[in-house]
Amino acid sequence: MGKIKSQRKAIPKSVRFEVFKRDSFKCQYCGACAPDVLLQIDHIEPVSKGGDNNITNLVTSCANCNSGKSNKTLDDKSALAKQRAQIEELQEKQEQRKMLMAWKKGLRELKEDTLNDLCSYWNELAPGFTVSDNGKCNLSKWLKKFSIEEIIYAMDIAAEQYLIFKKNGTTTTESWEKAFLKIPGICRVERESKEDPDIKELYYIRGIVRNTCRYYFDNSEALELLKIARSWDIPMSKLRDIAYNATSWTRFQNQINKAIDDKQQEDKRQV
Ligand SMILES: [Zn+2]
Repeated sequence: MGKIKSQRKAIPKSVRFEVFKRDSFKCQYCGACAPDVLLQIDHIEPVSKGGDNNITNLVTSCANCNSGKSNKTLDDKSALAKQRAQIEELQEKQEQRKMLMAWKKGLRELKEDTLNDLCSYWNELAPGFTVSDNGKCNLSKWLKKFSIEEIIYAMDIAAEQYLIFKKNGTTTTESWEKAFLKIPGICRVERESKEDPDIKELYYIRGIVRNTCRYYFDNSEALELLKIARSWDIPMSKLRDIAYNATSWTRFQNQINKAIDDKQQEDKRQV
């Protein structure tokens, strides 16, 4: 099939004038006026689509707008452009929503995979029981705070320190549960000890004090006292001695304060 040739007929001068007057000598596309721009006559319905030279099909256009204009009618053009922009925006939004959902789904799957991997890692360390849904829920919470590496490391430690094995090679119920629930605490201590290398030892010493003080013991106060003592460079061995001989909370406090005083006196003498 051959191309349909547009049957363009010259527009009479009088008709051109009528159109310019009607349009106030203003380009109907961009608003530019004569004599700033060269005005032309544009067919609303293109000649190629059967538009004629009737004044109702003619519109004032500047040369720029006329040359850039495709075979779209004036009313159509803006409406179509708007419509197209809306559709494009809609498609773009839809596209982005799809991408977002795929990304979230991917994350969810990744999380599920990670959880399952961690569960099977733990199951190998602690044979006999499998991690319940509740346990998975806990793991998922821990994963929000700690990295996979931190949790795996803590699992190793927990298994080593707390698991008790039966003759058949499986773990006891109590030790399994205890070890599993120790995982987040180990993660926390490990992280803290990266920032403060003393902390692990101080936790250990505090544990000794806790065992020796039968009637009263303040967990956070004890750690605070030990940290203060360390800030005065009181050696760990000294703190351990105090802990073993604490017998009561008051005695522990006094001993720590005395150690700090002694250290202060010693420092003064050296100055
Ligand atoms: Zn224009």
